[in-house]
Formats: sequence, C-alpha cells, structure tokens
Amino acid sequence: MRFAKPLLAAVAVGGMVALPARAEIDVAKLKQSIEASFESDYPKLDALYKDIHAHPELAFQEEKTAAKLAAEMRAIGFEVTEKVGRTGLVALYRNGDGPTIMVRTELDALPMEEKTGLPYASVVKTTWQGRETFVAHSCGHDIHMASWVGTAKTLVTLKERWKGTLMFIAQPAEEVGAGAMAMLAEGLFTRFPKPDVGFALHTGGGIFPYGHIGYTVGVRSSSADSLFIRFKGRGGHGASPQATIDPIIMASRFVVDVQSVISREKDPTKFGVVSIGSFHAGTSGNIIPDEVVLQGTIRTYDVDVRARMHDGIKRTAKAVAEMADAPAPDIVITEGIKAVVNDAAVGETAGKVLKAAFGDKFRAAPPVTASEDYSEYINSGVPSMFFNIGVYDPEAVAAAQKSGAPLPGNHSALFAPVPKPTIQTGVTAMTLAVLSAFDQRAKGQYKGQ
Ligand SMILES: [Zn+2]
Ligand SMILES: [Zn+2]
Repeated sequence: MRFAKPLLAAVAVGGMVALPARAEIDVAKLKQSIEASFESDYPKLDALYKDIHAHPELAFQEEKTAAKLAAEMRAIGFEVTEKVGRTGLVALYRNGDGPTIMVRTELDALPMEEKTGLPYASVVKTTWQGRETFVAHSCGHDIHMASWVGTAKTLVTLKERWKGTLMFIAQPAEEVGAGAMAMLAEGLFTRFPKPDVGFALHTGGGIFPYGHIGYTVGVRSSSADSLFIRFKGRGGHGASPQATIDPIIMASRFVVDVQSVISREKDPTKFGVVSIGSFHAGTSGNIIPDEVVLQGTIRTYDVDVRARMHDGIKRTAKAVAEMADAPAPDIVITEGIKAVVNDAAVGETAGKVLKAAFGDKFRAAPPVTASEDYSEYINSGVPSMFFNIGVYDPEAVAAAQKSGAPLPGNHSALFAPVPKPTIQTGVTAMTLAVLSAFDQRAKGQYKGQ
C-alpha cells in the first residue's frame, strides 16, 4: 500500500538514510507526469469549463451542471450517485485496500450579471426568490469543477501509485451556505464511506497570480452568524415625540454603540466583525413608527470571540431599549456557517509535497473574512486541507499591485480567471495533495486512524 516511488524520500525512508535532495527530484518527476497527463486531457477540460461557465445555475438548481459532472466521472470509471443533498453527487473510485480520500467541488453560481465580455461569458437569466436575475460563475466554482474532473482523471491515470478509495463530491448551494448540510443530512458519511482525509480548493481572486498556491495554517475562513433585532417603541406624531417611544432613535443608537463591542470588548488582536446591512422602519417623515427591524452579520474566527460578541451585541440592544424605557427588543442570533480550520497533520504532509513541487509559489496566505460551508465536513470529523489557487497573469497582478487598483476578485462582475494555467495549478496541486495523503495514511503516520 505504498507508492512505488515515495513522494518524499526524506520522509518515506523513516529511520534509514534521509535524502532531501532526492525528495525534490521525486516530486519534480511526479509533477512532470501530472502535467503531461493534464496536457493531453486539457482540450476536454477547457470545453467542459467554458460550457459550465456559459451555463451557470444557482443554488439547488444545479441539475444540468451535476449531470455534466456525473457523465464525466462515469467516463473516467467512477461509480456515481446523483441527487445526494438535492442536486449534489458522490463519485467513488475503489482501487484496493487503503484510506478514503475526499475531494470536494461546489456546483453553484451567483445571482448577478457577468460583465467580463469574454467569448464564453454567461448571458443566462433565471428566477431567484421570485425575481428574474442574471446568473454568473463569478466565484470560480466552474474552475473548481474543471480542476476536480481533471484531478480525478489524473489520479486514475496514476492508479499504480496509490491504494484506497477516491471519494469525489460535488456540492450544491455553497453560496447560500446550505449545500454541505444538505449532503450530510442525506447520508453523505453513512450511505458512503466516511473519508479519512478531505481536500478542497478555491480560486483566490487577485492576491496571487496563477501557478501560485496559498495555504493558511489553522483557521482559514470565518464563522458567519446572522443577527435579527426588532426594537419596539410606541408610534405617534412626529411633532409630538414626547408622547411616543421612538424606535428609530433606539435602533440608530444601537447601530453606532454595537461597534464598541468590537473596539472595547473583543480582544483587539483577534478578528471579529459585526455589520448591520438592513435597517427597516417607517412610512412617512412625520410619523414615528412603532418598530424598527435590523438585520446584520457577525463574523469571527475564534469560538471565544464569537461567544463574547454575541453577549455584547445582546447587552447593547437591551440597554438601548432600557434607556428609552421601551419594551425589551426581540433579538435572534442564528448560528450559521462555522470557521474552516485546516488540520495541522494533513496540511503539513501535503504542504511538504507542494513546497517541493511549487517552491516559493506555495505560500502562506492570511485567513479570509468570508465564510465557507466546507467547515461542515471538518466538524463532522474529516481532517482537511483547504487551499487557494491564483487566477490572473503574473504581470497583471504585478501591475495591479504597483498601481494600487486591485484586479476583480471573487463575486465581482469582472472576475475572469485565465482558464488553462489556473486549472493546471488546481489539478497539479490537488493531485499531489491527494497522493501525499494516501502515502501518509498507508504508512500509518496519522494519529488516530
Ligand atoms: Zn462565493
Ligand atoms: Zn466560492
């Protein structure tokens, strides 16, 4: 159950002679054979990428996208189960005794108009929450899908080098934070094997050029909780405020004062954000309304900071109501997506191989303040590595850094990854990461299993 050639000789030889120089040669050779396999697969991957890009589908509507991936995976030899978590799919490839390694892609696009002007740009429209909207793959999930299929193909081509089971999952509805939970609720880890290790990648906007990989040790993305508050006053004439309890004053005071939870209560060295994005009240300038409804979002990396912020936000809301002699407000904090925390052992093992393959193009990246529901798999007990890949031409990235005008990032209408080198990096990095996990698991070097 070991590689014919160890990925990293220095690690693989254990108590024997360590040969760090040879280690790089092995990984370099492996990288070359992955890239050769990629080169011959690329025309198909390019067509798949551009087809998916031009025909995006929104959360839980990804039926055609899922069907395309199912057909690709069956053609490679995977056993595919569709409609796991509504529109998700699970593809298994069994190759003897050994660990199960999961690779996840997302399926969904965003309700927005693409403005890149690319020949394969989306002009798709659909109905979303009762309204007509454009649809676009502005988060790069199409790059992830092409890399996912390419990685599957490459790993099957290299099947002499590993033993075990590949579990490739295509998850719906990441953008609404509901797809991972939907797949788990429909038996992802009970109807199918529970993976020993999991991997996912994400396009990283304009931070790194293509060919580069960013990795964050530990916490990689934030938890996202939603906040709902209804301040209850007593409405009346705008000319006679003394006869009313003005909920607009209460809510306005809250919006300002709640930021002191961030600046005065939270540890300033730790990340935490609270933003109020929706403030609704009133019908007319001369009527003091009965109530105000606020909605917001709370982002943190750390569970202690999260608990402290929830407490501070609730106290501030109650205090402003009390100051106005108003009834207690309705406060609902809904815990949402949790932080993605990379597993130290999985990251270290894959990181050594990626460092040997990519040199200083494999870099430390800061955590992101956005959230990602891959955390559901981690919290279900799958130690994982989640990394980023760059998407833009190195010269364009350098010019943008010089001018100070950033290149369009994820969720921008102008987000436009350069397909071939971006997908090549995705396939090469993911293939090496998966092989590193098979190698390490086969040697029993992980604690636990
Ligand atoms: Zn996104
Ligand atoms: Zn995304």
